[in-house]
Parts: sequence; structure tokens; C-alpha cells
Amino acid sequence: MKNAFPAKTRLLAALLIAALLLCLLCGCDAKPAPSGSAAPAQSGGAQTDAPVTDPPASRTEPVATEPPAVTTTEPAPPDESWKLLLVNAEHPLPEGYSVELKALRNGHYVDERIYPELQQMFDDARAVGIYPLINESFRTGERQQQIMDKYIASYEASGLSHDAAVRKAREIVALPGTSEHQLGLALDIIAEFDADSTATWNWLRDNCWRYGFILRYPADKVEITGISYEPWHFRYVGVPAAQEITEQGLALEEYVERLG
Ligand SMILES: [Zn+2]
Repeated sequence: MKNAFPAKTRLLAALLIAALLLCLLCGCDAKPAPSGSAAPAQSGGAQTDAPVTDPPASRTEPVATEPPAVTTTEPAPPDESWKLLLVNAEHPLPEGYSVELKALRNGHYVDERIYPELQQMFDDARAVGIYPLINESFRTGERQQQIMDKYIASYEASGLSHDAAVRKAREIVALPGTSEHQLGLALDIIAEFDADSTATWNWLRDNCWRYGFILRYPADKVEITGISYEPWHFRYVGVPAAQEITEQGLALEEYVERLG
């Protein structure tokens, strides 16, 4: 009896059966791996072992926190010696002293550097019902001479000799070149709207240091200043000096001498 399948086909079938038997014996599973299962070690091991969350070594090195060295040169502090310039009978105005003036109301002028604090002082005074008015401010040497001449003429008219009138006038008026008013840092202040300036002078005496001013000729310093008590005359010296002078009860002459 002749086989219905050719010999070649029989051989292939025999090989297929043999391979299937081998598979069953070794237990291998031909099903695909379920999705989400662990990746095969040979393909994923290198990636999962890599320290991906660690920063590269170069980024863990300390970063310099020191600020960069400043190479620019510091500007010199401004010269503030003008604030403590002493002008009196023994210390005349420096030769050629000049000042930039700021025009105020009523034809008055002051050193423009003191204007902001002067304005603040007047604003704060008005806020508490005190109304100061500037009566005298910057004077030129010529103006100082005119004032001196007026006093001399007045004393002569009252019967004094010329020499006696000059001596008397010099007790009250500073010689040209020796008045603080020529600095633009001194002000004579009275009360606006009121003949009695006492409340204004008291407020200024107590508060002017906050704005850099001092009562320049106190009653208890006549021997030192050589000027009789002038409750109306205030001088700018800057806040630090004004505070110290006021707290320690000094005349400007004493303060300047202590500084050397
Ligand atoms: Zn004065």
C-alpha cells in the first residue's frame, strides 16, 4: 500500500512533532509577556541602575559665594566743614568766602544747602500752630556796614560823641566781616501775625536742633560769644552738631574748640 503523503512532507511533519514535544518537555511559554511587566534585564538593567536623580558631579561642587571684588574707588566724603565755620569778632569771614544763595519770600536769602531743613522746620512749626517769620537772613558786607552806620547815627543823634557812638554800636552790631549773617547760615526769626514772639522762640529753642539749627547766642553764654542774649537768632550747624551742642548746653565757640 502506497503512503498518501510524499516522503518530503512526512519528514517535515515528523520534525514539527519532535519540536513540539521538546517544547512541552522544557516548559517554555510562547505567550507574550503581559504589558507592564518588568522589562527584561538585558534590555533595561543598564538604564534603571543609572543614578538619574543624582546631579552630575560637577554641579555638587560648592559655588563661590564671595561677592566679586569691588575695584572702583570710593568717592571722597563731601566737605562739611562749612557747617561749623566760626565767625565772630576774633574769627572774621574767610577771605573770598562765597555762597550759593536760595531766594526766600520777602527778599530773603539763605545758603541753598540749608533750605530743605529750614523749610521742614517751618512746616512742622506751622503744623502745631507756630508761625515763624524770617526777619533777617543773609547779609552782604555792605548791608552789615549800613546797619552799623545807622546805629552810630542814632547814638550820635541822642547826644553821644562819634567815638562813643561807634563803641556803643559795636556792642550791638557786628563789624562787617564778623557777622554770621554773611555766611547765609544765620536767621533772625520772629512770630508771624503776632507782636509777641515768645511762643515762637520757645518752640524753636526746643526743636530747632532736629533741623540742624542752634540758638546761637544764649543768655548764659554772653561771656563766651561776646554777643548779648538773642532769642531770635538761629544758626545752622547740621543735625549731629546741633544735637550735641543742645544736649550739652554749649556755645558754638566751645563746641568748635573741643573739636580742635
Ligand atoms: Zn541775627
